[in-house]
Amino acid sequence: MLQNKQVLLDLINRQIRKLSGLRFWWPTFPEQLEERFERDTEERRCRRLWLEGLIAIALFDLFLIGDHLNSSPREFWRAFVVRALIVTPVCLIVNASMLRKPGRVVRESSIVLGATIAGLTHLYLESNRSIAASAYAHLAVMAVILFTNIVMRLQFPYAIAASMIMLMGESVFLHYDHMLSHDEKLVAMMMIAAVSLITLVANYSAIREERLNYLLSIRDEMLVKDLNRLNAQLVRHSESDALTGLANRRSFDTQFAHLWKRAIVASNALSVIVVDVDNFKKLNDNYGHLYGDEVLRRIGSLLQQALRAKDDFAARYGGEEFIILLPSTPLSAAAQVAERLCKMVELAGFPPLDPAQTPYNSNTTATVSCGVATAYPTLREVPEQLLEAADKAMYQAKADGRNRVSCAPALAGVSLSA
Ligand code: GH3
Ligand code: MG
Ligand code: MG
Repeated sequence: MLQNKQVLLDLINRQIRKLSGLRFWWPTFPEQLEERFERDTEERRCRRLWLEGLIAIALFDLFLIGDHLNSSPREFWRAFVVRALIVTPVCLIVNASMLRKPGRVVRESSIVLGATIAGLTHLYLESNRSIAASAYAHLAVMAVILFTNIVMRLQFPYAIAASMIMLMGESVFLHYDHMLSHDEKLVAMMMIAAVSLITLVANYSAIREERLNYLLSIRDEMLVKDLNRLNAQLVRHSESDALTGLANRRSFDTQFAHLWKRAIVASNALSVIVVDVDNFKKLNDNYGHLYGDEVLRRIGSLLQQALRAKDDFAARYGGEEFIILLPSTPLSAAAQVAERLCKMVELAGFPPLDPAQTPYNSNTTATVSCGVATAYPTLREVPEQLLEAADKAMYQAKADGRNRVSCAPALAGVSLSA
Protein backbone atom coordinates (compact mmCIF):
# COMPACT_ATOMS: atom_id res chain seq x y z
CA MET A 1 0.00 0.00 0.00
CA LEU A 2 2.70 2.39 1.14
CA GLN A 3 4.87 1.15 -1.74
CA ASN A 4 2.08 1.82 -4.26
CA LYS A 5 1.77 5.30 -2.86
CA GLN A 6 5.48 5.88 -3.29
CA VAL A 7 5.32 4.60 -6.88
CA LEU A 8 2.45 6.97 -7.60
CA LEU A 9 4.29 9.87 -5.97
CA ASP A 10 7.40 9.14 -8.07
CA LEU A 11 5.25 9.04 -11.20
CA ILE A 12 3.63 12.35 -10.30
CA ASN A 13 7.01 13.96 -9.61
CA ARG A 14 8.38 12.77 -12.96
CA GLN A 15 5.37 14.19 -14.78
CA ILE A 16 5.66 17.48 -12.91
CA ARG A 17 9.30 17.77 -13.98
CA LYS A 18 8.32 17.07 -17.61
CA LEU A 19 5.48 19.57 -17.56
CA SER A 20 7.56 22.25 -15.88
CA GLY A 21 10.19 22.05 -18.65
CA LEU A 22 9.95 23.65 -22.07
CA ARG A 23 10.10 20.53 -24.22
CA PHE A 24 7.03 19.44 -26.18
CA TRP A 25 4.96 16.91 -24.31
CA TRP A 26 1.98 15.08 -25.75
CA PRO A 27 -0.75 16.08 -23.28
CA THR A 28 -1.72 12.72 -21.81
CA PHE A 29 -0.47 11.11 -18.61
CA PRO A 30 0.64 7.49 -18.26
CA GLU A 31 -2.43 5.24 -18.03
CA GLN A 32 -2.78 5.01 -14.24
CA LEU A 33 -2.54 8.76 -13.79
CA GLU A 34 -4.71 9.54 -16.81
CA GLU A 35 -7.51 7.40 -15.37
CA ARG A 36 -7.29 9.24 -12.07
CA PHE A 37 -7.22 12.62 -13.81
CA GLU A 38 -10.30 11.69 -15.81
CA ARG A 39 -12.10 10.46 -12.68
CA ASP A 40 -11.29 13.59 -10.73
CA THR A 41 -12.10 16.13 -13.45
CA GLU A 42 -14.89 14.41 -15.38
CA GLU A 43 -17.88 15.80 -13.52
CA ARG A 44 -16.70 19.40 -13.54
CA ARG A 45 -15.70 19.22 -17.21
CA CYS A 46 -19.07 17.76 -18.28
CA ARG A 47 -20.97 20.51 -16.43
CA ARG A 48 -18.76 23.20 -17.92
CA LEU A 49 -19.11 21.80 -21.44
CA TRP A 50 -22.86 21.63 -21.01
CA LEU A 51 -23.07 25.29 -19.98
CA GLU A 52 -20.71 26.47 -22.71
CA GLY A 53 -22.61 24.32 -25.20
CA LEU A 54 -25.80 26.21 -24.37
CA ILE A 55 -24.02 29.52 -24.96
CA ALA A 56 -22.66 28.25 -28.30
CA ILE A 57 -26.12 27.10 -29.43
CA ALA A 58 -27.63 30.47 -28.47
CA LEU A 59 -24.90 32.28 -30.46
CA PHE A 60 -25.48 29.97 -33.43
CA ASP A 61 -29.19 30.86 -33.46
CA LEU A 62 -28.42 34.57 -33.08
CA PHE A 63 -27.06 34.44 -36.64
CA LEU A 64 -30.73 34.21 -37.68
CA ILE A 65 -30.91 37.97 -37.11
CA GLY A 66 -28.20 38.46 -39.73
CA ASP A 67 -29.95 35.99 -42.01
CA HIS A 68 -33.17 37.98 -41.59
CA LEU A 69 -31.52 41.33 -42.38
CA ASN A 70 -29.43 40.19 -45.33
CA SER A 71 -31.48 37.52 -47.12
CA SER A 72 -34.56 37.20 -49.19
CA PRO A 73 -37.61 35.75 -47.35
CA ARG A 74 -36.99 32.43 -49.10
CA GLU A 75 -33.35 32.31 -48.01
CA PHE A 76 -34.32 33.32 -44.48
CA TRP A 77 -36.94 30.58 -44.32
CA ARG A 78 -34.32 28.02 -45.46
CA ALA A 79 -31.86 29.34 -42.84
CA PHE A 80 -34.58 29.20 -40.17
CA VAL A 81 -35.46 25.57 -40.98
CA VAL A 82 -31.81 24.47 -41.06
CA ARG A 83 -30.63 26.42 -37.99
CA ALA A 84 -33.62 26.30 -35.65
CA LEU A 85 -35.43 23.13 -36.70
CA ILE A 86 -32.61 20.76 -37.68
CA VAL A 87 -29.19 21.76 -36.32
CA THR A 88 -30.31 23.29 -32.99
CA PRO A 89 -32.25 20.18 -31.81
CA VAL A 90 -29.32 17.93 -32.80
CA CYS A 91 -26.86 20.17 -30.93
CA LEU A 92 -29.21 20.37 -27.91
CA ILE A 93 -29.34 16.55 -27.75
CA VAL A 94 -25.55 16.31 -28.01
CA ASN A 95 -25.24 19.01 -25.35
CA ALA A 96 -27.73 17.35 -22.98
CA SER A 97 -25.73 14.11 -23.21
CA MET A 98 -22.97 15.92 -21.28
CA LEU A 99 -25.15 15.78 -18.17
CA ARG A 100 -25.01 11.97 -18.30
CA LYS A 101 -21.22 12.09 -17.96
CA PRO A 102 -20.28 10.08 -21.06
CA GLY A 103 -16.74 8.64 -21.25
CA ARG A 104 -13.90 10.83 -22.45
CA VAL A 105 -13.94 9.68 -26.10
CA VAL A 106 -17.72 10.09 -26.49
CA ARG A 107 -17.67 13.41 -24.64
CA GLU A 108 -14.92 15.05 -26.64
CA SER A 109 -16.08 13.55 -29.98
CA SER A 110 -19.61 14.82 -29.33
CA ILE A 111 -18.30 18.34 -28.89
CA VAL A 112 -16.27 18.02 -32.12
CA LEU A 113 -19.43 16.78 -33.87
CA GLY A 114 -21.70 19.57 -32.52
CA ALA A 115 -19.16 22.30 -33.26
CA THR A 116 -18.35 21.15 -36.79
CA ILE A 117 -22.04 20.69 -37.66
CA ALA A 118 -22.63 24.30 -36.56
CA GLY A 119 -19.64 25.65 -38.55
CA LEU A 120 -20.37 23.65 -41.71
CA THR A 121 -24.06 24.59 -41.56
CA HIS A 122 -23.05 28.23 -41.58
CA LEU A 123 -20.82 27.70 -44.64
CA TYR A 124 -23.63 25.80 -46.38
CA LEU A 125 -26.14 28.60 -45.75
CA GLU A 126 -23.80 31.37 -46.88
CA SER A 127 -22.51 29.51 -49.92
CA ASN A 128 -22.84 31.48 -53.22
CA ARG A 129 -25.35 33.98 -51.83
CA SER A 130 -23.47 37.23 -52.29
CA ILE A 131 -19.89 38.56 -52.29
CA ALA A 132 -20.37 39.90 -48.74
CA ALA A 133 -21.79 36.58 -47.53
CA SER A 134 -18.82 34.67 -48.97
CA ALA A 135 -16.33 37.20 -47.57
CA TYR A 136 -17.80 37.03 -44.06
CA ALA A 137 -18.60 33.30 -43.99
CA HIS A 138 -15.18 32.28 -42.73
CA LEU A 139 -15.52 34.64 -39.74
CA ALA A 140 -18.14 32.25 -38.37
CA VAL A 141 -15.74 29.34 -38.96
CA MET A 142 -13.08 31.23 -37.00
CA ALA A 143 -15.58 31.81 -34.19
CA VAL A 144 -16.27 28.06 -34.04
CA ILE A 145 -12.53 27.27 -33.92
CA LEU A 146 -11.98 29.89 -31.20
CA PHE A 147 -14.87 28.58 -29.17
CA THR A 148 -13.90 24.90 -29.33
CA ASN A 149 -10.14 25.31 -28.92
CA ILE A 150 -10.02 28.10 -26.36
CA VAL A 151 -13.35 28.42 -24.57
CA MET A 152 -14.38 24.75 -24.43
CA ARG A 153 -10.73 23.71 -24.32
CA LEU A 154 -11.28 20.45 -26.21
CA GLN A 155 -8.60 17.90 -25.37
CA PHE A 156 -5.65 18.46 -27.66
CA PRO A 157 -6.12 15.61 -30.19
CA TYR A 158 -9.81 16.49 -30.48
CA ALA A 159 -8.98 20.18 -30.89
CA ILE A 160 -6.70 19.20 -33.79
CA ALA A 161 -9.50 17.07 -35.27
CA ALA A 162 -12.08 19.89 -34.97
CA SER A 163 -9.68 22.39 -36.57
CA MET A 164 -8.86 20.01 -39.43
CA ILE A 165 -12.54 19.36 -40.17
CA MET A 166 -13.26 23.10 -40.20
CA LEU A 167 -10.27 23.70 -42.49
CA MET A 168 -11.50 21.02 -44.90
CA GLY A 169 -15.05 22.42 -44.75
CA GLU A 170 -13.70 25.88 -45.53
CA SER A 171 -11.65 24.59 -48.49
CA VAL A 172 -14.68 22.76 -49.94
CA PHE A 173 -16.75 25.93 -49.45
CA LEU A 174 -14.11 28.06 -51.21
CA HIS A 175 -13.74 25.48 -53.98
CA TYR A 176 -17.43 25.75 -54.91
CA ASP A 177 -17.66 29.48 -54.24
CA HIS A 178 -18.17 31.73 -57.31
CA MET A 179 -18.16 35.07 -55.52
CA LEU A 180 -14.52 35.47 -54.38
CA SER A 181 -11.42 35.77 -56.55
CA HIS A 182 -8.64 33.20 -56.34
CA ASP A 183 -6.45 35.54 -54.28
CA GLU A 184 -9.30 36.36 -51.89
CA LYS A 185 -9.88 32.66 -51.39
CA LEU A 186 -6.20 32.17 -50.65
CA VAL A 187 -6.26 34.93 -48.01
CA ALA A 188 -9.40 33.42 -46.42
CA MET A 189 -7.76 30.00 -46.30
CA MET A 190 -4.58 31.44 -44.79
CA MET A 191 -6.55 33.28 -42.13
CA ILE A 192 -8.43 30.14 -41.09
CA ALA A 193 -5.16 28.18 -41.00
CA ALA A 194 -3.50 30.90 -38.88
CA VAL A 195 -6.43 31.03 -36.44
CA SER A 196 -6.39 27.23 -36.18
CA LEU A 197 -2.68 27.21 -35.44
CA ILE A 198 -2.82 30.06 -32.90
CA THR A 199 -5.78 28.57 -31.04
CA LEU A 200 -4.15 25.13 -31.04
CA VAL A 201 -1.04 26.61 -29.42
CA ALA A 202 -3.25 28.37 -26.85
CA ASN A 203 -5.21 25.15 -26.31
CA TYR A 204 -1.99 23.19 -25.78
CA SER A 205 -0.63 25.73 -23.26
CA ALA A 206 -3.91 25.86 -21.33
CA ILE A 207 -4.15 22.06 -21.18
CA ARG A 208 -0.52 21.77 -20.10
CA GLU A 209 -1.08 24.35 -17.36
CA GLU A 210 -4.30 22.69 -16.24
CA ARG A 211 -2.61 19.29 -15.99
CA LEU A 212 0.41 20.69 -14.19
CA ASN A 213 -1.88 22.37 -11.64
CA TYR A 214 -3.76 19.13 -11.21
CA LEU A 215 -0.54 17.20 -10.51
CA LEU A 216 0.65 19.83 -8.04
CA SER A 217 -2.68 19.75 -6.23
CA ILE A 218 -2.80 15.94 -5.89
CA ARG A 219 0.83 15.89 -4.79
CA ASP A 220 0.03 18.49 -2.11
CA GLU A 221 -3.04 16.48 -1.11
CA MET A 222 -0.97 13.30 -0.76
CA LEU A 223 1.74 15.07 1.24
CA VAL A 224 -0.80 16.71 3.56
CA LYS A 225 -2.50 13.33 4.10
CA ASP A 226 0.88 11.78 4.96
CA LEU A 227 1.64 14.62 7.32
CA ASN A 228 -1.74 14.25 9.05
CA ARG A 229 -1.19 10.50 9.40
CA LEU A 230 2.25 11.03 10.90
CA ASN A 231 0.88 13.69 13.22
CA ALA A 232 -1.88 11.38 14.41
CA GLN A 233 0.73 8.65 14.95
CA LEU A 234 2.88 11.07 16.91
CA VAL A 235 -0.07 12.11 19.08
CA ARG A 236 -0.94 8.44 19.68
CA HIS A 237 2.66 7.69 20.65
CA SER A 238 2.91 10.70 22.92
CA GLU A 239 -0.27 9.64 24.70
CA SER A 240 0.39 5.94 25.14
CA ASP A 241 2.76 3.87 27.21
CA ALA A 242 5.22 1.98 25.02
CA LEU A 243 5.36 -1.15 27.18
CA THR A 244 1.67 -1.85 27.85
CA GLY A 245 -0.04 0.18 25.12
CA LEU A 246 -2.26 1.76 27.78
CA ALA A 247 -2.63 5.52 28.10
CA ASN A 248 0.41 7.13 29.74
CA ARG A 249 0.61 9.52 32.67
CA ARG A 250 0.32 12.59 30.47
CA SER A 251 -2.82 11.34 28.81
CA PHE A 252 -4.19 10.31 32.23
CA ASP A 253 -3.77 13.87 33.56
CA THR A 254 -5.76 15.27 30.64
CA GLN A 255 -8.50 12.66 30.93
CA PHE A 256 -8.73 13.01 34.71
CA ALA A 257 -9.18 16.79 34.46
CA HIS A 258 -11.80 16.31 31.74
CA LEU A 259 -13.80 13.66 33.64
CA TRP A 260 -13.56 15.68 36.83
CA LYS A 261 -15.12 18.72 35.13
CA ARG A 262 -17.77 16.53 33.52
CA ALA A 263 -18.66 15.03 36.89
CA ILE A 264 -19.05 18.55 38.36
CA VAL A 265 -21.36 19.63 35.54
CA ALA A 266 -23.45 16.43 35.68
CA SER A 267 -23.31 16.20 39.53
CA ASN A 268 -22.16 12.65 39.07
CA ALA A 269 -19.78 10.30 40.85
CA LEU A 270 -16.20 9.78 39.68
CA SER A 271 -14.29 6.76 40.98
CA VAL A 272 -10.56 6.14 40.92
CA ILE A 273 -8.74 2.83 41.43
CA VAL A 274 -5.00 2.89 42.09
CA VAL A 275 -3.48 -0.49 41.24
CA ASP A 276 0.01 -1.49 42.40
CA VAL A 277 1.74 -4.79 41.65
CA ASP A 278 2.71 -6.62 44.81
CA ASN A 279 6.34 -7.42 45.55
CA PHE A 280 7.31 -6.56 42.06
CA LYS A 281 10.89 -5.87 42.98
CA LYS A 282 11.20 -9.46 44.18
CA LEU A 283 9.61 -10.72 40.97
CA ASN A 284 12.15 -8.75 38.95
CA ASP A 285 14.98 -10.06 41.10
CA ASN A 286 13.80 -13.66 40.75
CA TYR A 287 12.90 -13.81 37.10
CA GLY A 288 14.65 -10.90 35.49
CA HIS A 289 13.61 -7.48 34.34
CA LEU A 290 12.44 -8.69 30.93
CA TYR A 291 10.09 -11.15 32.53
CA GLY A 292 8.90 -8.33 34.82
CA ASP A 293 8.06 -6.34 31.70
CA GLU A 294 6.09 -9.30 30.40
CA VAL A 295 4.08 -9.37 33.65
CA LEU A 296 3.37 -5.64 33.38
CA ARG A 297 2.17 -6.12 29.80
CA ARG A 298 -0.10 -8.95 30.93
CA ILE A 299 -1.54 -6.92 33.80
CA GLY A 300 -2.09 -3.98 31.47
CA SER A 301 -4.14 -6.17 29.17
CA LEU A 302 -6.14 -7.66 32.11
CA LEU A 303 -6.84 -4.12 33.27
CA GLN A 304 -8.47 -3.31 29.95
CA GLN A 305 -10.48 -6.51 30.09
CA ALA A 306 -11.72 -5.67 33.60
CA LEU A 307 -13.30 -2.44 32.32
CA ARG A 308 -16.84 -2.55 31.04
CA ALA A 309 -18.31 0.90 30.31
CA LYS A 310 -17.08 2.75 27.24
CA ASP A 311 -16.01 5.80 29.23
CA ASP A 312 -13.87 3.78 31.69
CA PHE A 313 -10.24 4.69 31.33
CA ALA A 314 -7.05 2.82 32.28
CA ALA A 315 -3.50 4.20 32.31
CA ARG A 316 -0.04 3.18 33.41
CA TYR A 317 0.74 5.75 36.04
CA GLY A 318 4.42 4.83 36.30
CA GLY A 319 6.64 1.85 37.19
CA GLU A 320 4.38 -0.98 38.35
CA GLU A 321 1.47 1.30 39.18
CA PHE A 322 -1.72 1.61 37.15
CA ILE A 323 -4.76 3.76 37.50
CA ILE A 324 -8.39 3.36 36.48
CA LEU A 325 -11.01 6.11 36.12
CA LEU A 326 -14.66 5.12 36.30
CA PRO A 327 -17.07 7.98 35.53
CA SER A 328 -20.64 7.84 36.89
CA THR A 329 -19.65 4.91 39.12
CA PRO A 330 -20.40 4.78 42.86
CA LEU A 331 -17.88 3.39 45.36
CA SER A 332 -19.54 -0.02 45.67
CA ALA A 333 -19.44 -0.63 41.89
CA ALA A 334 -15.84 0.65 41.66
CA ALA A 335 -14.85 -1.72 44.49
CA GLN A 336 -16.40 -4.60 42.51
CA VAL A 337 -14.28 -3.67 39.47
CA ALA A 338 -11.17 -3.65 41.69
CA GLU A 339 -12.09 -7.05 43.19
CA ARG A 340 -12.62 -8.47 39.70
CA LEU A 341 -9.23 -7.15 38.65
CA CYS A 342 -7.48 -8.67 41.70
CA LYS A 343 -9.00 -12.06 40.85
CA MET A 344 -8.06 -11.80 37.17
CA VAL A 345 -4.45 -10.92 37.96
CA GLU A 346 -4.19 -13.70 40.53
CA LEU A 347 -5.45 -16.19 37.95
CA ALA A 348 -3.71 -14.96 34.85
CA GLY A 349 -1.19 -12.23 35.71
CA PHE A 350 1.80 -14.50 35.63
CA PRO A 351 2.71 -15.49 32.07
CA PRO A 352 4.19 -18.99 31.59
CA LEU A 353 7.92 -19.08 32.23
CA ASP A 354 10.44 -20.60 29.92
CA PRO A 355 11.49 -23.70 31.98
CA ALA A 356 14.75 -23.93 30.04
CA GLN A 357 15.86 -20.53 31.29
CA THR A 358 14.22 -20.09 34.67
CA PRO A 359 13.56 -22.61 37.44
CA TYR A 360 9.78 -23.01 37.42
CA ASN A 361 7.96 -22.62 40.69
CA SER A 362 4.30 -23.54 40.39
CA ASN A 363 3.42 -21.55 43.50
CA THR A 364 4.60 -18.31 41.94
CA THR A 365 1.89 -15.83 41.06
CA ALA A 366 1.51 -12.10 40.47
CA THR A 367 -0.96 -10.13 42.52
CA VAL A 368 -2.05 -6.52 42.81
CA SER A 369 -3.32 -4.31 45.61
CA CYS A 370 -6.05 -1.78 44.81
CA GLY A 371 -7.12 1.45 46.50
CA VAL A 372 -10.55 2.76 45.57
CA ALA A 373 -11.97 6.24 46.16
CA THR A 374 -15.10 7.92 44.85
CA ALA A 375 -16.06 11.58 44.81
CA TYR A 376 -19.06 13.67 43.83
CA PRO A 377 -16.86 16.60 42.81
CA THR A 378 -17.86 20.22 43.26
CA LEU A 379 -15.93 23.41 42.48
CA ARG A 380 -14.58 23.44 46.04
CA GLU A 381 -12.34 20.39 45.53
CA VAL A 382 -9.43 19.57 43.27
CA PRO A 383 -8.90 16.20 41.55
CA GLU A 384 -5.60 15.58 43.39
CA GLN A 385 -7.57 15.07 46.63
CA LEU A 386 -9.40 12.11 45.11
CA LEU A 387 -6.17 10.66 43.75
CA GLU A 388 -4.49 11.01 47.12
CA ALA A 389 -7.39 9.27 48.84
CA ALA A 390 -7.20 6.32 46.39
CA ASP A 391 -3.43 6.13 46.83
CA LYS A 392 -3.76 6.03 50.60
CA ALA A 393 -6.37 3.28 50.28
CA MET A 394 -3.95 1.31 48.11
CA TYR A 395 -1.26 1.55 50.81
CA GLN A 396 -3.87 0.38 53.30
CA ALA A 397 -4.46 -2.70 51.11
CA LYS A 398 -0.70 -3.33 51.16
CA ALA A 399 -0.64 -2.96 54.92
CA ASP A 400 -3.60 -5.35 55.24
CA GLY A 401 -1.63 -8.10 53.50
CA ARG A 402 -1.64 -7.27 49.74
CA ASN A 403 -3.70 -8.91 46.94
CA ARG A 404 -6.78 -7.11 48.16
CA VAL A 405 -8.97 -4.02 47.75
CA SER A 406 -9.26 -1.18 50.20
CA CYS A 407 -11.78 1.66 49.92
CA ALA A 408 -11.09 5.24 50.99
CA PRO A 409 -13.18 6.60 53.84
CA ALA A 410 -14.99 9.91 53.38
CA LEU A 411 -12.57 12.78 53.98
CA ALA A 412 -13.37 16.16 55.45
CA GLY A 413 -13.69 18.87 52.80
CA VAL A 414 -14.03 16.39 49.93
CA SER A 415 -17.35 14.96 48.90
CA LEU A 416 -16.08 11.43 48.97
CA SER A 417 -18.69 8.76 48.96
CA ALA A 418 -18.59 5.76 51.23
P1 GH3 B 1 5.03 -3.47 46.99
O1 GH3 B 1 4.25 -4.73 47.04
O2 GH3 B 1 5.13 -2.81 48.32
O3 GH3 B 1 4.51 -2.56 45.97
O4 GH3 B 1 6.47 -3.87 46.59
P2 GH3 B 1 7.19 -3.65 45.24
O5 GH3 B 1 8.39 -4.47 45.16
O6 GH3 B 1 6.21 -3.89 44.14
O7 GH3 B 1 7.49 -2.11 45.24
P3 GH3 B 1 8.82 -1.33 45.07
O8 GH3 B 1 8.42 0.10 44.91
O9 GH3 B 1 9.79 -1.66 46.15
O10 GH3 B 1 9.42 -1.86 43.73
C1 GH3 B 1 8.89 -1.55 42.48
C2 GH3 B 1 9.75 -2.20 41.44
O11 GH3 B 1 9.18 -2.12 40.14
C3 GH3 B 1 11.12 -1.57 41.39
C4 GH3 B 1 11.39 -1.38 39.91
O12 GH3 B 1 12.61 -1.94 39.51
C5 GH3 B 1 10.27 -2.15 39.27
N1 GH3 B 1 9.88 -1.53 38.04
C6 GH3 B 1 9.45 -0.27 37.82
N2 GH3 B 1 9.19 -0.08 36.52
C7 GH3 B 1 9.46 -1.24 35.88
C8 GH3 B 1 9.39 -1.66 34.51
O13 GH3 B 1 9.02 -0.94 33.60
N3 GH3 B 1 9.75 -2.94 34.22
C9 GH3 B 1 10.16 -3.79 35.19
N4 GH3 B 1 10.49 -5.02 34.84
N5 GH3 B 1 10.25 -3.41 36.49
C10 GH3 B 1 9.90 -2.16 36.82
MG1 MG C 1 4.51 -2.63 44.01
MG1 MG D 1 4.70 1.05 43.54
